[in-house]
Amino acid sequence: MSAVLAVAGGLPLLGPILIGRFIDDASTGATARHLFVLAGVYVAVGLTRQFMAVVVAWTAADLAWTVTNELRSDLTRHVLALDLGFHRRTSPGELVSRVDGDVTALSEFIAQFAVKAVAAAVTLVGIVAVMLAQDWRVGLGFGVYLALAVGTMYALRNQAVDEAATEQAAMGRLLGEVEERLTGADDLRGNGGGSHAVARFQVAGARLLRAMLQREKQGVILWVASNAMFVFGGIAILALDAALLSQGSITLGTAYVVFQFTQILREPLGQLADETERVQRAAGGMARTIQLMDERSAIHDDGRDSLPSGPLALALDDLSFTYDDEDDASPVLSDVALSIPAGTTLGVLGRTGSGKTTLARLLLRLVDPTVGVVRLGGVDISTVPLSDLRARTGVVSQDVHLFNASIRDNLVLFDDSISDERVRAALAELGLLDWVEAMPEGLETVLGPAGSGLSAGEGQLIALTRLFLREPDFVLLDEASSRVDPLTEERVTRAVDRLIEGRTAIVIAHRLSTVERLDQILILDAGRIAEFGSQSELRSRSESRYARLLATGASSEVDAALLDPGAP
Ligand code: ATP
Ligand code: MG
Repeated sequence: MSAVLAVAGGLPLLGPILIGRFIDDASTGATARHLFVLAGVYVAVGLTRQFMAVVVAWTAADLAWTVTNELRSDLTRHVLALDLGFHRRTSPGELVSRVDGDVTALSEFIAQFAVKAVAAAVTLVGIVAVMLAQDWRVGLGFGVYLALAVGTMYALRNQAVDEAATEQAAMGRLLGEVEERLTGADDLRGNGGGSHAVARFQVAGARLLRAMLQREKQGVILWVASNAMFVFGGIAILALDAALLSQGSITLGTAYVVFQFTQILREPLGQLADETERVQRAAGGMARTIQLMDERSAIHDDGRDSLPSGPLALALDDLSFTYDDEDDASPVLSDVALSIPAGTTLGVLGRTGSGKTTLARLLLRLVDPTVGVVRLGGVDISTVPLSDLRARTGVVSQDVHLFNASIRDNLVLFDDSISDERVRAALAELGLLDWVEAMPEGLETVLGPAGSGLSAGEGQLIALTRLFLREPDFVLLDEASSRVDPLTEERVTRAVDRLIEGRTAIVIAHRLSTVERLDQILILDAGRIAEFGSQSELRSRSESRYARLLATGASSEVDAALLDPGAP
């Protein structure tokens, strides 16, 4: 690229020099043959310039996209590794604008501006050098003029960078709003929230407009300033030219070259000024990209310990946890201490908001405890590399995320190395093969965006199989809180039973029927342990909450019964 640019930047100088020579030679009586040669070289230089323009554009685009595609994947990888808190603060739409929009601004910058700027710089330096060679006074004049022009443009541009960053941020917020409202379109429409959402959209749009106007204003100031510089600079140079010519210290040819060079200057400098908008956007994008790259996950992945092999015992040492919300700093979990042996199962009950899902996040190290330690197989999980921990643990979350892809891809998470036979075997073991085969195209049935077309319960069936294929030693199931039809419920129960067999498992349940077959029971109440014991022990104590829950009927809703712990 540098070599290409050096040639492309130097070529514009040759034309005027050749003509200057032509004028001088013609006025001093050179042969027609000599003049024809000069004219021929001039034409060849012109053609080469056109050809080089194509080469520059092609190489630049190639370079720009190669580099920025790397950057896009780096950013995506980085963002995926950031913690829950970051993703709660940042909407998916905003992330799209940062990972793609900002980087695209950067790639346009490299492909269209940076290249022109370097070529222009080569031209400018070349001009000053040629001028110095012709006459030191003209060279010096040009040098001063150039330094002033570039310096002024640089100062103005730096100021404009802030405006561009503000605009990009406003754009990110707008996209974030749109993305979120569209995802929730059903809920918004269904609850008559449409006009409110549109109003919010307009506010975000107005903010973006203000930021854009501000940036445009800066661009215009820059444009006017650079044009003014040209006009006055050009006049000064021409005056100098005329003085030197009448003094006889330069030839008519040189006078022509000097004049022509001021014209050449106009093009690259003018282009640079016209493109400052691109520079502003790119610089804003760059600033925001660096900021995003500097974002560090609150989950430090620097552990070096390893987990013992086989099923993992779980121990919680006085766990407390607070989501770091400024407005709501009350602990979600307090003093949770318990342990369960390897290969046994624990059922977790508790009314909504009691901290069950939060406990699950702590066990999977999606968040770190504010106080206390989570141990798997006796090892503090914060001292184990995250990739090792994730390889040994697995989760079916409360709201399973399915992808707009075939059932097969949803099961193996796009891992082609897992054979269809293995997928079928897993489905058969979980008793789900007939369910999948009954779909229109079996494993190849394509689910809609976000897995639309399946119920919450069916989503959990997919997620259970997904987990089963990974064969983790520690599993965590967060049961869907929505109601599930009896047939699906029966399938879920069967699949869960098979999945947790021989593994250490935590099952967060919204239905009593789910926990009846588990070894131990934990009841959470407002983030504290209200009850913890083995299934048989709690059943036999008739005054235990669990026994009372069972007495109200196995099919009754956990939440309803828990609302009134004193009920018979
Ligand atoms: P459910 O039965 O409805 O699933 P849960 O027992 O799983 O409820 P959690 O999701 O653990 O409850 O929530 C416990 C408390 O923590 C709630 O008061 C909730 O508002 C708060 N909370 C949950 N997630 C977050 C979060 N990401 N940031 C801040 N607060 C949160
Ligand atoms: Mg929950």
